[in-house]
Amino acid sequence: MAKIMDGKALAKKIQKKLREEVEDLKKEKIIPKLAVIMVGNNEASKVYVKNKSKACNEVGIEYEEYLLPEETTNQELLDLIGNLNARKEIHGILLQSPIPAHLNINEAFEKIDYHKDVDGFHSVNVGNLVLGRDTFISCTPYGIMKILEEYGISIEGKHAVVIGRSNIVGKPIAQCLLAQNATVTMCHSKTKNLQSITQSADILVAAIGKEKFVKKDMIKPGAIVIDVGINRQVDGKLCGDTDYENLIDKAGYITPVPGGVGPMTIAMLMTNVVKAAKNVKD
Ligand code: NAD
Repeated sequence: MAKIMDGKALAKKIQKKLREEVEDLKKEKIIPKLAVIMVGNNEASKVYVKNKSKACNEVGIEYEEYLLPEETTNQELLDLIGNLNARKEIHGILLQSPIPAHLNINEAFEKIDYHKDVDGFHSVNVGNLVLGRDTFISCTPYGIMKILEEYGISIEGKHAVVIGRSNIVGKPIAQCLLAQNATVTMCHSKTKNLQSITQSADILVAAIGKEKFVKKDMIKPGAIVIDVGINRQVDGKLCGDTDYENLIDKAGYITPVPGGVGPMTIAMLMTNVVKAAKNVKD
């Protein structure tokens, strides 16, 4: 029976500690502040943004929200980011994706001052991650690494297989695992014989966006399974990218959905905002 890795409990623990750090910063007249920009009317984004504002409130981080209409122009978005960059009291800027297709998301991410890039998407921060330098690690991979650490899972020498090569999860988690001396294999939609690769994974990260994609016969007994997926089923319930119920008696460790990687992503966003505020102080 797999050990369930409780991301929700760990996120709470991290946020409690952050609250104390924020109180110390406030004594020095530094109030960490996050600005969140959302463009258009994406229902899932609204939920994510709400959860982020709630976490800020719990940790004591000030929060400013910009809800821009669907028809916002690229220039308007860039101008807003430019204004937020210039405001000293704002330590973190987050652009919630997706944004409407007529806008250039790469240009917008690059416009964010990389010192305030608490999502870790700016090319400077991504480059620093690859080079093994101090940086803002994007929140989902950062959260996954914290979960592995919390459960005392050694990474060195393990075969880590990542399914999915997105810029926000797949690529950065592969870098994080490599930095801890895993042997990393990246798989994606064009990978051949996926099952034969995943079957040799000591650590398997599923970041695909397809309901219950990883089946029991795709993992090796005792594997450490990290499920990043958030999929809404027809009955309205959430499920991950792994067939959790059937994997549970074969895996060694597994993260649930919900309650695994999701809450950790938010806790690491809070961590990055506090880090950004401390960087200004130093
Ligand atoms: P994405 O949609 O950008 O990319 C999906 C990846 O899956 C691609 O690289 C693609 O090559 C790969 N893929 C698709 N079909 C495949 C197949 N048949 N075989 C192998 N690989 C295949 O993904 P993303 O933005 O990384 O998101 C992945 C999932 O994680 C989504 O469900 C998303 O909602 C979720 N997510 C969760 C969090 C969190 O905080 N828990 C954060 C980000 C994303």
